[in-house]
Amino acid sequence: MPAGINTPIEVFRSHMDYLSQHEYRVSRLDEIVEHIIHGRQLKNKALAITFDDGYEDHFLNAYPILKRCGFPATIFLTVKYIDGYWESEKAEGGRIKALSKDQILEMKKGGLIRFGSHGYSHRNLLCINEEEKLFEIRDSKSYLEDLLGEEVPFISYPFGAVNERVKNVARESGYKAGFSIWNRKSDIYSIRRIPLHTRDDLMRLKFKVSPLYPITKFFLNSVSIRIYSF
Ligand SMILES: [Zn+2]
Repeated sequence: MPAGINTPIEVFRSHMDYLSQHEYRVSRLDEIVEHIIHGRQLKNKALAITFDDGYEDHFLNAYPILKRCGFPATIFLTVKYIDGYWESEKAEGGRIKALSKDQILEMKKGGLIRFGSHGYSHRNLLCINEEEKLFEIRDSKSYLEDLLGEEVPFISYPFGAVNERVKNVARESGYKAGFSIWNRKSDIYSIRRIPLHTRDDLMRLKFKVSPLYPITKFFLNSVSIRIYSF
């Protein structure tokens, strides 16, 4: 995600406190995916938390709050920026620090945070050729698997951009599921997530975690699948 749609830390804290106080079942993403694959109904108030891009802020600010609440989460990493910086006109100094390898491995060791791919260099997968698609989708997976020493089963498409060809490449590359943002058609290689933005204060979070939100979006069948993207 480009800078500017990230959630301020005090808002994130209030979101997590709300989920904790109201007994939401914050689940691991792989558990939610298993339910989706087998067509099983998720328990009431089940949801998963995801982060895209892999900013250092995920480690410095979000991770301590997740640990305090005991909430698992998945961070989708962009390989090119690990140990480096994202350029952003909106950020102070024109850049945002990304997660380092050490921070990633420390979170992995903690057991609460899992990692997925957000592509190799954050390119829009609809705007590149076949060879580049393979590089972004398949090679980012193998890089991250080498780094983490474990399988990387999920991908989140940069900008949520996905079509049938991208889904096929993800499948052929060995991913078990792919994540988009709030696209109309949802399937296992294009699972919808509900984005939370800077403007989403606690009131809007309450609305977004309520069954009313998908109904207002005309997605009646998605009431039980709530995966949040920060
Ligand atoms: Zn992104």
